[in-house]
Amino acid sequence: MSFDYDLFVIGGGSGGVRAARIAAGEYGARVALAEESRMGGTCVIRGCVPKKLMVFASQAGLMAEEMRGYGWEGAQAGRFDWSVFRPKLDAELTRLERAYTANLEKAGVRIFHQRATIVDHHTIALADGTRQTAKHILIAVGGRPALPGIPGEDLGLISDDLFLLDRLPRRAMVVGGGYIACEFATILAGLGCDTVQVYRGDAVLRGFDRQARDLATLQLGQIGIDLRLNVTPEGLERTGDRIRVMLNDGMTEDVDAVFWATGRDPYTGGLGLENTGVHLRPNGAIVVDEWSQTAVPSIFAVGDVTDRVNLTPVAIREGHAFADTVFGARPRKVGHAGIASAVYLRPHEVAQIGLTEEQACARGDVDVYATEFRPMRSMFAGSNAKVMMKLLVDPDTDRVLGCHVFGPDAGEMIQLAAIPIGMGATKADFDATMAVHPTAAEELVTMRTPARRHRLAVQAAGGTAAG
Ligand code: NDP
Repeated sequence: MSFDYDLFVIGGGSGGVRAARIAAGEYGARVALAEESRMGGTCVIRGCVPKKLMVFASQAGLMAEEMRGYGWEGAQAGRFDWSVFRPKLDAELTRLERAYTANLEKAGVRIFHQRATIVDHHTIALADGTRQTAKHILIAVGGRPALPGIPGEDLGLISDDLFLLDRLPRRAMVVGGGYIACEFATILAGLGCDTVQVYRGDAVLRGFDRQARDLATLQLGQIGIDLRLNVTPEGLERTGDRIRVMLNDGMTEDVDAVFWATGRDPYTGGLGLENTGVHLRPNGAIVVDEWSQTAVPSIFAVGDVTDRVNLTPVAIREGHAFADTVFGARPRKVGHAGIASAVYLRPHEVAQIGLTEEQACARGDVDVYATEFRPMRSMFAGSNAKVMMKLLVDPDTDRVLGCHVFGPDAGEMIQLAAIPIGMGATKADFDATMAVHPTAAEELVTMRTPARRHRLAVQAAGGTAAG
């Protein structure tokens, strides 16, 4: 049977673009890609890239405060002008979008700027009514913000909307305690918005190490966010040009904007998957094997739509491995364990790789090398903000099981720590590494004595040994 293409990719985000570019550019496959929105997907257009630029924009106040501590009398951040920033942001995203398109075209990929749905195991229907056939179909459509399902929720905005606002809200509420909620609340507060963050749990960033979570929770309050813990909205209603939020603690809040940051769902609705034998999990995620192959041999899926580890570099790696395997005769799997990540808060970021202290304790014996200290730079300026570094070590093998950093540029640090830890480094390897002085990161190679030793047998007997 002959097909129009060797590969048809649905979705022009991180995973889809990488797969298409490698399949066509490196392996000579005939590739088409459909994208219903802007090329680049969530990361480039409405996620990582605009978010990080806004994080940079939002730190002027903290920097001015620090500089006053260094003797720059009267140093002030001034007034943030969204009408200057927003067009610059738009221009940068347009530049990136063009670069993505150009790179695909250079590799010989045919791009359809329209929605695609699946008709059968080898056929795609495009929004213009035409049909295309392909030997392989790759689904890389990503995820979409999930709403909590409460009355009036349509009055709220989703994360995509932050980057498209005509003006910043004077008073905003961010709902959630995950990556997006904490980053958005930090950005909004840094840009001068009166920011309320409500989270249903007792410490933000569930899934991260508890010590880091507690420090992050504290920091959100310290930078001026009105953080309400153990609270969740029950309904929204319009009052004039504002929004009234009814909270489950009996309080109401009037704000100019509400941002839902209550998780993301795989974007599989309306894709035509009912026409195929592809299996979905209850949340709509596509079930794939270690080769990113679905239950249908001709259909593969990568990235957030599979809900494995929902991070851009993972989607890119999965897309690349798919192309190597299917078109390059170089079978490659992607490991999903031990992936580092960072949350871009200010002034201190949260970053981690491997097990949390809680997970390590549940797994077996662990020695915890941990330190909290006031770093030279901000302490000199009069700040009490603490940095935290932690290594979790298996006492039997000396292997480093996890690393956690709460501090300035923690994301940059964890990227480098991820290399030795991924290679199986021991605590002795860290100890043997000469410190770079004076840095904050040198603490990672100078912690000599465990702050705590957890022993499973002792815990089972009713306590935790410390020594
Ligand atoms: P997360 O899963 O990180 O957080 C969702 C938050 O919403 C949690 O605090 C959750 O609470 C809360 N929540 C969920 N449902 C409800 C509800 N019905 N009512 C109230 N609260 C609710 O998702 P995000 O949307 O923040 O981010 C999505 C993904 O995007 C992340 O998992 C991450 O992989 C990726 N991402 C990565 C970034 C980075 O690398 N820096 C930045 C942004 C996103 P609870 O904890 O109690 O379940």
